[in-house]
Formats: sequence, C-alpha cells, structure tokens
Amino acid sequence: MTYDAIIVGGSHAGLSAAMALGRLRRKALVLDYSLPRNRFSSHAHNLVGLDGIDPNQWRAQARRDLTRYPTVEFESDRLTAIQPAEGGFQGTSKSGATFRTRKVVLAYGIQDVLPEIPGFAELWGTGVYHCPYCHGFEVQNQILAVMGDEALLKHMVPMLLGLSSRVVALSNGLSLTPETRNSFQQVSVEFHRESVEQLNYDDQGLQSINLAGAGPIPVNALFYGRMAPLTLASDIHEQLGCKQDDMGRLLINPLGETSVAGVFAAGDIASMQQSVAGAVASGQMAGSGAVHQLLQEDFQKKID
Ligand SMILES: Cc1cc2nc3c(=O)[nH]c(=O)nc-3n(C[C@H](O)[C@H](O)[C@H](O)COP(=O)(O)OP(=O)(O)OC[C@H]3O[C@@H](n4cnc5c(N)ncnc54)[C@H](O)[C@@H]3O)c2cc1C
Repeated sequence: MTYDAIIVGGSHAGLSAAMALGRLRRKALVLDYSLPRNRFSSHAHNLVGLDGIDPNQWRAQARRDLTRYPTVEFESDRLTAIQPAEGGFQGTSKSGATFRTRKVVLAYGIQDVLPEIPGFAELWGTGVYHCPYCHGFEVQNQILAVMGDEALLKHMVPMLLGLSSRVVALSNGLSLTPETRNSFQQVSVEFHRESVEQLNYDDQGLQSINLAGAGPIPVNALFYGRMAPLTLASDIHEQLGCKQDDMGRLLINPLGETSVAGVFAAGDIASMQQSVAGAVASGQMAGSGAVHQLLQEDFQKKID
C-alpha cells in the first residue's frame, strides 16, 4: 500500500497533521500505539476554547472529526523501521506490516525521564508537574516547590512567585552559586540543597517532601524539569538522519520540514513550546507542508 504521507504518532500533533492532509484529500496513514505524554493527567489546560478538557476526550473527538475525511486511515501499531525507497520511504511496523509513502510526518512526542524517588512517578501529573502554564493556576497560593539544577531553578522560581508567595527551591544535592542563593533569599524563597528522598502523599495529593538528614517539609505541588537533552519516543529520526539541536529537538524549517527532504516533524519533538496548543499548531503546519510538496510535485509532473 502506498500513501501520500505516513504520520508517526496520533496524538495532538499527529491528528492535526492528519486533518490538513485529509482536507486536501491526500491519502494518509496515522500510526499510533496510544502512549501520549499527558496520559497521566485528566485535564489539559492552557488550551483556549477547550480549557480543562480531558486529553483523552480531546483525542477521541479529534478521531471522530477525522472520520469525515475518507483518505485518512488509522492503525494501532508502532513504526519500528524506515528507510528511503523509490519515490519516498518504506516503513515497517512492530506487527510486521510494511508501508510505502511519499512523505513522512514525525509526531511521536517525548518521554519524560523521572528521578527514582518514591512518590514521584505515582504523583506525576497529579501533584508533580512539568509546567506552570498547564497546572500552576490550579495550585495557586499553595506551597509550591520546584526541583532541578540551577538553570531550571532560575527559570522557574520567578514563574512560581507569580502563583504563590510560598515557594521552595530544591536542588536535590546540586550546589548553587552564591548569587542565585542570595537572590532567592531576597525574595523569601526557601532553598534546600539536600537530596530529595521521598514524596509523601495521601488521597488529597502531595503533602510533604523528605529531605536527606532533615525532617519533612510541607509542599502541596512540586514542579520538575530537566535542563537536559530530550528523550524522543522513537529513533525513527535517527534512522532517517534528521538533524537535531543541542536539546535533541528536530530542526525544522518554517513549513515543518526536517533536514531530510520529504520528512516533516511536529509537536514536542520539534518545538520549544511543549503544549497541546503548540502541538496542534505545529502539526497543522507539518501536515500542510507535506500537502504543499505533494501537490507541487504532482502539478510539476503534469506540466513536464
Ligand atoms: C503529566 C503531563 C501533563 C500535561 N498537561 C498539559 C496541559 O495541561 N496542557 C498542555 O498544553 N500541555 C500539557 N502537557 C504537555 C503535552 O502533553 C504535550 O505537549 C503534548 O502531548 C505533545 O503532543 P505530541 O502530539 O507532540 O506528542 P504526544 O501527545 O506525546 O503523542 C505522541 C504519540 O506518538 C505515539 N508514538 C510514539 N512513537 C511511535 C511510533 N514509533 N509509532 C507509532 N506511534 C508512536 C505515542 O504512543 C503517542 O500516542 C502535559 C504533559 C505531561 C507530561
């Protein structure tokens, strides 16, 4: 089976790309195995028009919307290999199916690498958060902590002070420069260098955090991030040879095309703004970029 485009990942970015392809009647296949990044959360915020929607409900509605477009197909499968082939690319999935396609849209998201601290994974998305825009408003005026290295703390502390006057900075064993420590002191932000040993929670959520050699400190919400290269959910971009920036994001041009001709990328793997709205917008761009190339090529063939 030859497609105009295969979309690898069928969440916010991939489904948005599928709509652009479907509306211009291009034959597209969405491959997805349903492990989106926000599966731990029951509400997606910072999404104007649908603020607070359950992300699974968003995906279900997007899939329903796409049933209007008969050229868009879906497979619950994982793309495991891809290589250039005549006229485009050939991919193979985990189930052993093979696909030929003229264009590829990569929309497989990233994987959050969480520290192995008891309580951390259990509270991910419900008491431990990655982003103040997504979850900060709901925990405003509570005791908010942020854990990370110096760069992350300097980035997040001012944001959290916009939400609460009670902010705690945790470096989990890392040292901070005297300037940074001083600046936190000046704005009454409590700083702890000790290792974070455990998050204590009950059915109301996060209650306190145990630090090495110290008693538990009260905390109601913890924000966490890594100023480190991202872990992309697949190695398909490596198989294709797509260039990445120093944070691991795929480099794309304004039409969403990667450094490999005919390969487009969208969503968290290709954007600094990791959000549902950002993924939808970049997915639309990547889908439109693929459509543009397909139809230009077809037009050119007709006039040659
Ligand atoms: C806990 C949590 C809560 C969040 N809450 C919010 C929020 O409230 N508001 C907000 O704007 N953002 C939120 N985000 C960020 C948001 O989840 C991401 O920005 C968004 O999911 C990115 O969409 P995406 O389509 O790029 O990737 P994803 O949503 O991660 O989807 C990628 C899809 O690709 C599939 N896939 C991966 N590899 C393959 C492969 N080889 N073959 C086929 N399929 C594949 C996966 O199974 C997955 O379904 C949250 C993130 C987290 C971690």
